[in-house]
Amino acid sequence: MSVVYPLLVALLVTGLAAYMRWRLPVYFIALLGALALTWVLGGHVATTLTLLVIGALAAVVLLVAPLRKSIISAPALRIFAKILPPLSETERVALEAGTVGFEGELFSGRPNWDMLFAQPKPELTADEQAFLDGPVEDVCRMTNDWEITHIRADLSPEIWDYIKRNKFFGMIVPKEYGGLGFTALANHKVIQKLASVSSVLSSTVGVPNSLGPAELLMHYGTKEQKDYYLPRLADGREVPCFGLTGPWAGSDATSIPDYGVVTRGEWNGEQVLGVKLTFDKRYITLAPVSTLIGLAFRMYDPDGLLGQTKDIGITLALVPRDTAGVEIGRRHFPLNSPFQNGPIHGREVFVPLSQLIGGPEFAGKGWQMLVECLSIGRSITLPSTASGGAKLAAVVTGSYARIRKQFGLSIGRFEGVEEALGRIAGHAYTISALAEASAAAVTRGELPAVPSTISKYHCTEMARQVGQDAMDIHGGKGIILGPRNYLGRAWQAAPIAITVEGANIMTRTLMIFGQGAILCHPWVLKEMKATQITDPRERLDTFDAALFGHIGMAISNAVRSFWMALTGSRFGAAPGDAYTRRYFRRLNRYSAALALVADSSMSLLGGKLKFKENLSGRLGDVLSHLYIASAVLKRFHDEGTPEADKPLLAWSFHNSCFEIEKAMSNALRNFPVRWAGYLLWILVFPLGRRAQYPSDRLSHKAASLLMTPNESRDRMGRGVHTTPHANNPAGRIISYLEAVVLAEPVERKFVKALKNSDIEALDFAAQLDEGVREGWITAEERDQLRALREMTIDTIAVDDFDTEELRSAGYARFAALNSQAAANDSNPMLSSPATDTDIGRNIA
Ligand SMILES: Cc1cc2nc3c(=O)[nH]c(=O)nc-3n(C[C@H](O)[C@H](O)[C@H](O)COP(=O)(O)OP(=O)(O)OC[C@H]3O[C@@H](n4cnc5c(N)ncnc54)[C@H](O)[C@@H]3O)c2cc1C
Repeated sequence: MSVVYPLLVALLVTGLAAYMRWRLPVYFIALLGALALTWVLGGHVATTLTLLVIGALAAVVLLVAPLRKSIISAPALRIFAKILPPLSETERVALEAGTVGFEGELFSGRPNWDMLFAQPKPELTADEQAFLDGPVEDVCRMTNDWEITHIRADLSPEIWDYIKRNKFFGMIVPKEYGGLGFTALANHKVIQKLASVSSVLSSTVGVPNSLGPAELLMHYGTKEQKDYYLPRLADGREVPCFGLTGPWAGSDATSIPDYGVVTRGEWNGEQVLGVKLTFDKRYITLAPVSTLIGLAFRMYDPDGLLGQTKDIGITLALVPRDTAGVEIGRRHFPLNSPFQNGPIHGREVFVPLSQLIGGPEFAGKGWQMLVECLSIGRSITLPSTASGGAKLAAVVTGSYARIRKQFGLSIGRFEGVEEALGRIAGHAYTISALAEASAAAVTRGELPAVPSTISKYHCTEMARQVGQDAMDIHGGKGIILGPRNYLGRAWQAAPIAITVEGANIMTRTLMIFGQGAILCHPWVLKEMKATQITDPRERLDTFDAALFGHIGMAISNAVRSFWMALTGSRFGAAPGDAYTRRYFRRLNRYSAALALVADSSMSLLGGKLKFKENLSGRLGDVLSHLYIASAVLKRFHDEGTPEADKPLLAWSFHNSCFEIEKAMSNALRNFPVRWAGYLLWILVFPLGRRAQYPSDRLSHKAASLLMTPNESRDRMGRGVHTTPHANNPAGRIISYLEAVVLAEPVERKFVKALKNSDIEALDFAAQLDEGVREGWITAEERDQLRALREMTIDTIAVDDFDTEELRSAGYARFAALNSQAAANDSNPMLSSPATDTDIGRNIA
């Protein structure tokens, strides 16, 4: 027999063992057994014997624990400890602040889908649903976004009063403290609906229910702090804000130079121990109207009043607005979305230690507290805002594209528009599934560090694309601002969501994969932790177990990735039904590829990986789209696999696969270690890149869903404010669709008859009357066409203004200052001189 057969047998058994992840003893028994059988059956003697000897030797080395540890694990431990990238304090805190849910499975290369399906279907309680149908619907009806964004530059006093009275600010505050005690899911649904009418309204409600005093007090507050502040925050007696960012520290928030010095001072007429704060913050949402400032600063104790430590670290305090030395009240103007946002300054502001959040024991733990709470807020406010905006844009743009006609056709029938509309449908479907998934994770009690960054980044980026496509489809109707414009302000505001709660470039290139690779990886964190164990025996044992788990997984992923790519992921166990099973198999393949490339990157680049932001960003994209596709599939199954939604599911899924392969191929083509990039390419793309962007046929189907009344479109519009009324032009346009579609055949009949006639009437009403007289249409059909005309006019109409109405209220002041400014060559419009509060201790 040929020399090839024994080699082939060894290769097959090894491949099978790796693919199926057999345990080492099982593998060696199978390998040696198969080789022995090959020998008996007449296999090439020398080759078979050589392989048997090599196999037996490997079995001894790997299965005899003391031998394995001394030959392999102990030297590996020494190397590992040496090359292990030093974790900064910030990274350590970030890694310890999150929990790992289903996303961890995506890093394993063989996701346990049962874990995804074991998650309960997200559902609201009766109270929460009643709140959405009652106060939330009411406040949406009260909201006129033009009045807010152009006339008042603020919510109306009635809306402020209504949201406070109805405890919108206390959604997350437990009932025993007078709040609504809602789940994160309910919080998500409320913000989603508010965002569909006004981003000013949704951010005003979102901030107190996100990272800020209430959330921090619930987790760390002392009993006195909770008893006093939570009821006041719940009913709006206190309006909170949270000040972290300043001119010198934006993305690098741990470098805040704001400081507090431990000292004695006067508080409520008594001499007490406290901190004297000096700070300079900007971009702080709700600051101009806030009564209670949550403040992050660095605490110092130069006189040792609290102990030996002089630099105590980042600390959080509650500073009442009226505390002496606090300067607050002016406003920033964020992209024509005038939610309350502005700077806060303070110089030598004294607060007692009892105002530190959590009291003196939590001094210095501020960063950890923030990071732990951030994953909660980041899972909800911005993804939900994106979801509300995208859902509304999808249903209203579908109606608009059907009602608006050019060249005698609904504009949505033109392929160019249809492509954009299909993209809107697919993205809106994806965003809503993703936003719900991250809110559901918080509802289950997770601290979803990685999913929250994925959700924040991708929901806001996709919503920006939805806004852009919707604007393009609306043409001039989207551009001309005024009470009839329901898109322009949301489109303007899109970059705000991209920038806040961690600007997106950094979220993508530093955080998603950076945290995910270590936090979600089944073995890396265990290996890292093993190196820290002080007892040498325990250290080696723990490291040995993690190392061999890791090596086994890496080999398995190489084989799985290669095999599944070669076979087009057609085989293998996967959940789902006949329709979705192939999707899960594709995700199995990409999961193996991600795990393989992530492992290779970490082992080849070590600590340098965190500076390779392009690689990290691309692998983050792969992880994100694996998570996104899983969330979308889960939602599809939770909703009972509705046939009508299949085009949306398919669009979303193929888009994710396309993005995964694009990101992975860019990662490998630019892989910092060239030879490894080529090798990995063979294992990941043996047949090249195959995933395609959603096809034109799919785009057509997805776009058509938005342009006709159907259950899928209804589901898309669920959860946003579509009630037609005077303040809601989008709701009116959405409500017209059914009548418009019914009138279309009559319209076609009438237009055809009109073209073939020789009547001279140019006036539409006269033409209709003529049509009835000529018998082209009935009197009822005339009424139907009149109604169609009215609905079309309401749909396409835009606003116009007198110059006086458009001028800013500051115009008179400007005109007065302008001549004076011309004389001394200054700019009269500089809102305030740039200040320097002389904070500089920590600035490099
Ligand atoms: C409207 C608005 C509301 C806000 N509300 C609040 C609030 O209530 N409380 C609060 O404390 N803060 C608030 N912020 C601050 C917000 O979180 C910061 O703007 C944000 O963290 C970015 O800081 P920066 O704007 O100074 O940008 P910079 O830090 O200057 O960053 C500029 C760009 O560089 C990128 N970048 C920076 N470092 C890296 C890196 N290492 N790798 C890759 N890219 C990097 C960023 O992603 C960004 O694209 C708000 C901001 C805005 C605009």
